[in-house]
Amino acid sequence: MKKLIAANWKMNMTMAETRGFVKNLLQSVEKHPEILEKSELIICAPHVYLSALSTFCEKGVVSIGAQDCSAHNKGAYTGEISTGMLKDVGCTHVIVGHSERREYHGEKNESVCEKAKTAHKDGLTAVICIGESQSERKANLQEKVVERQLLESVPKNATAGNTVIAYEPVWAIGTGKTPSPDDAEQMHIFIRAFLTKHYSDGQDMPILYGGSMNPKNANELLSIPNIDGGLIGGASLKVEDYLAIAQSA
Ligand code: PEP
Repeated sequence: MKKLIAANWKMNMTMAETRGFVKNLLQSVEKHPEILEKSELIICAPHVYLSALSTFCEKGVVSIGAQDCSAHNKGAYTGEISTGMLKDVGCTHVIVGHSERREYHGEKNESVCEKAKTAHKDGLTAVICIGESQSERKANLQEKVVERQLLESVPKNATAGNTVIAYEPVWAIGTGKTPSPDDAEQMHIFIRAFLTKHYSDGQDMPILYGGSMNPKNANELLSIPNIDGGLIGGASLKVEDYLAIAQSA
């Protein structure tokens, strides 16, 4: 299976930078087509650039994702963006439940689950983020926390075709810290066991690792069993770093 190398640009990039990034990326991929043999590239950009991004990426080398969506289909929800709208501008993926949404916007597992269901109805793949905080890890509660997030955030009829799980320990996001290979492996085994128990094709549901992945540590992280790719924040903003990570796959 190809590794999914998903960029989460967060609230970064301008239109000109977006255009430049894609131009460089397409040129590099043309020179190194082997990158696409081992990895599938997804860029999750700010909503305002999604339409342009899908035009820039028209060759289909990169899939386009949003960083959040509404749980509603349409109507009086000022400021919200529906999954139908995302689909309309070329998105195939949407991140839901990122820890920054959970922390700064009070998102709970239940609303993450509703968003994932809406994404599925519109044919989008939901990239559902989970992960424990620093204090939860210190108290050795990581598996309990992650299990509850999985139970409550992942729709019961999710499939390997419409759902990606992104395990992102909150203490590793943007901090330069990563779990030890053993800790990462243990957690990914735990998540795989949960998915296999609860979903008929859970064995095939991709599980990404996210949190300070960069060109230096990507090789080690991506070779851990049950790590099917990465969700990459800071290091996805430079095309060389992003593609170096993809090349590690
Ligand atoms: C993220 O925000 O999803 C993330 C993994 O960020 P970073 O790579 O910067 O830690």
